Amino acid sequence: MTQLPHIVVVGGGVSGLAAAWFLTHGPHGPRARVTVLESADELGGKLRVQQVGGLHLDSGAEALLATRPEAVSLCRELGLETEPAATTKAAIYSRGSLRAFPGGLLTGVPTDLRQLAASGIMSLPGLLRIPLDHLLPRTVLHGDVSVGDFVSTRLGSEVTARLVEPMLGGVYAGRADSLSLQMTVPALYRAATRRRSALQAAASVLAEGRNARGPRKGPIFVGIEGGVGRLATVLADVLRDTGVDLQTKAVVQQVRKRGDLWDVVVGDGRGKYRTVEADAVLLATPATASADLLESVNQAASDELRAIEYADVAVVTLGYPADQARHLRGSGFLVPPVEGLTVKGVTYSSSKWDWVARAARTSADDGLAVLRASIGRAGDPLLDQSSDQELARIAADDIAVMVGLPRRPAFVSVTRWHQGLPQYAVGHRTRVAEIREWLVNTPGLAVCGAAYEGVGVPACIGSAQAAVSTLMQQLSEQREWAHG
Ligand SMILES: Cc1cc2nc3c(=O)[nH]c(=O)nc-3n(C[C@H](O)[C@H](O)[C@H](O)COP(=O)(O)OP(=O)(O)OC[C@H]3O[C@@H](n4cnc5c(N)ncnc54)[C@H](O)[C@@H]3O)c2cc1C
Repeated sequence: MTQLPHIVVVGGGVSGLAAAWFLTHGPHGPRARVTVLESADELGGKLRVQQVGGLHLDSGAEALLATRPEAVSLCRELGLETEPAATTKAAIYSRGSLRAFPGGLLTGVPTDLRQLAASGIMSLPGLLRIPLDHLLPRTVLHGDVSVGDFVSTRLGSEVTARLVEPMLGGVYAGRADSLSLQMTVPALYRAATRRRSALQAAASVLAEGRNARGPRKGPIFVGIEGGVGRLATVLADVLRDTGVDLQTKAVVQQVRKRGDLWDVVVGDGRGKYRTVEADAVLLATPATASADLLESVNQAASDELRAIEYADVAVVTLGYPADQARHLRGSGFLVPPVEGLTVKGVTYSSSKWDWVARAARTSADDGLAVLRASIGRAGDPLLDQSSDQELARIAADDIAVMVGLPRRPAFVSVTRWHQGLPQYAVGHRTRVAEIREWLVNTPGLAVCGAAYEGVGVPACIGSAQAAVSTLMQQLSEQREWAHG
């Protein structure tokens, strides 16, 4: 019987945990002996359930895209039940009021100008500028461009400012003038290389999506009772039960190649170091940490990784007496930066998720309405310059202005996410392809996580699965070669 290879996974966020799962739960049983090394006190990375105002709530990711299979099927395999959002009706706070999201938007790019006009989101001059798209000469895409450049050129800068910015701010905490069209709206990029009009390109993408989905209409987003953070805790429990060695407070300092093996140098954060020997290493860390670890092993890949920037973000959770929040409708709203407020989006958690509503009903005499505000955009120094107390006050004040809730909520809690979201800048796809090409020179070492092909949880799980396949393939080639 051949011995299973030992694989060290660095980083115990959802990508690292999912990688450990794929290494140990293949159709033919475990493919490796796995050690996961996580620098923080807890596993899960940006998946976390925290106690806030007497409730256990997500303070990191809170929803899973259900139109991609990876997260939903992992939940199913773990026996975790997902539940659709109770409402997905969202709004945009634009021109001083909350306005219902019009239908027919593709990451903010409109396709139904009637609905857009009726929504009141845009000014009349902004609306009248949009159809010029049909008359303008083709925008030739020789390669990647920023979403902002493309949309402003075709449809006018107000579409970027009032529709695209809030979407990109919500998902990437990024800015339209620096985020990559190729990465953030890839289907639009492809369609725009074939069509002159951006409106028609966006409409064709939405139509293709409808045709591909067919008549079956499942939810677009789902949550997990008790929080999406439970995906990490339940996954970790299952991994532990199946013999995966999960170590926290294990700060990986260095990765070194020694013949066919790897030495992973681990610190305990208090000056003590040890070396873990591995047949292969999977870096499931944010790009900056992966760049540090790769520096002495693969300088070129390390340099490319270091060029990936991050946005710091904060989640502010606020509770209000339920009777003061009865006028709130739908699942929440996004705020374009042009409105001059700090909060970039608010989720009405107790309206969006039944499980939060149930928990919030029993938590106070008359129940609570729970809201979750996001703060932080790439390049904005606000988070560095503000205390938690200031962030809490700013969030409550912005919410008071936008939806008329009292400036003093019943409770408020701030969670900061340093390096919360990677920025897919123009050229990101090429950069990632180059990183992967450089890594071919370092067989037995792979990377996965939010920094590469998608920031959402399903994409992270997908990247973990792909990295595991690459590593296993390399190990079997190495073994074949060694045995002639
Ligand atoms: C506030 C917020 C809300 C979000 N909401 C959603 C959402 O609703 N839906 C969705 O799909 N996505 C959401 N996302 C995105 C998604 O949560 C993340 O992209 C994803 O969880 C990243 O997982 P990861 O494992 O790749 O990275 P991480 O979660 O960052 O995990 C990497 C781990 O590596 C560890 N590490 C770093 N350096 C070292 C080292 N030297 N040694 C050992 N360990 C190390 C870190 O401590 C960390 O735990 C959100 C993100 C944020 C910040």
